[in-house]
Amino acid sequence: MIIRKTFKYRLKPNNAQRRLFAQFAGSCRFVYNRGLAQKIEVYEKSKTKLSYYDLNNQLPALKQEYPWLKDVHSQVLQQGLKDLATAFTNFFRRVKNKETPGFPKFKAKGQRDSFRFPQGVKLNENLVYLPKIGLVKFKKSRDILGEINQTTIKKEGKHWMVCFSCEYESSIPNYDLALSKSLGIDMGLATYATFVKGLGNEVEKIENPRFLKKGLKKLQYLSRDLSRKAKKSRNWYKARQKLQNFHGFLRNSRNDFAHKLSTQLVKSHDIICVESLSIKAMLGSGSKNLSRAISDAGWSGFLENLKYKASHAGKGFLQADRFYPSTKNCHNCGQRHELSLKERVLDCSCGNKIDRDVNAAINIKQQCLKAVGTTVIKLVELPH
Ligand SMILES: [Zn+2]
Repeated sequence: MIIRKTFKYRLKPNNAQRRLFAQFAGSCRFVYNRGLAQKIEVYEKSKTKLSYYDLNNQLPALKQEYPWLKDVHSQVLQQGLKDLATAFTNFFRRVKNKETPGFPKFKAKGQRDSFRFPQGVKLNENLVYLPKIGLVKFKKSRDILGEINQTTIKKEGKHWMVCFSCEYESSIPNYDLALSKSLGIDMGLATYATFVKGLGNEVEKIENPRFLKKGLKKLQYLSRDLSRKAKKSRNWYKARQKLQNFHGFLRNSRNDFAHKLSTQLVKSHDIICVESLSIKAMLGSGSKNLSRAISDAGWSGFLENLKYKASHAGKGFLQADRFYPSTKNCHNCGQRHELSLKERVLDCSCGNKIDRDVNAAINIKQQCLKAVGTTVIKLVELPH
């Protein structure tokens, strides 16, 4: 299957190139902001929408008006307009989904300065050729795989970075073979995680690690102890320190656990399917207790670990749709059930009687795998 991946490196520009970067990013921002202002104005006047093509057609006239725009590669300016179009597409999608809309904002200087080349970029060892800028050195920390689709130059802190979005054929030799090494994961409160593996959905449950079970009691004890002390007394400070230390201990143990487990999983699987966490976090927001808080933090760390490691190993990492009700639907017939948190078994009229976490893990896996083959798997490179 085709994998799309971004490779990011630190650029080592000289002073002249640094100035050009700032100029390119500034021109991009100018075109973006002007386009945004025009879109708003036209909409307010005539209730009509200016499209990307309308704005793009104005570029030659704009260059006459502002000759310094001519110094910048025209495709870079077009990419600025495309960003604007994407910002509006995202805005309208959020409105449709009744999420917080967040109308596209004007870009300010020094905030996420960036620009993009859709083509024309060439590579030679640790040098990258950027149209109208020239050869720029970069710190090549590892090899780039596949064909470069587009190249983004962006400023992070005081450094300029280059990101190559590439597409390549994955090392997973054959889809059926990959399926035999597929893994579906459901994260839970009663058990840490439930796995279903391979074509036959072999089940494995990972119990909550002992430090978590024991730690919970100790946390409750320590916080109670703190609440009994007179505030800001010597003993209060002592108790507070104890509590903070224990939090630190739990955090370390949890990270350690997540590291080991994720390494082992990535080694032995080719496609890893996980749920989207946000939905579970939202569902659970009513029952905010200590164990919930601990688990939530642990889950996201664990999944970030998995994602990062899978990406580095060139394995498939898939996340189920945010709104997919993995715990409610029978994986066999799709019938929806309303299960209370206490009900551990889903008993469906189709004859499927199954542990609810196993059912959820199978659903997550099936839902993710449906997407493979039709869409490209996107692995996003995390910063080193
Ligand atoms: Zn059923």
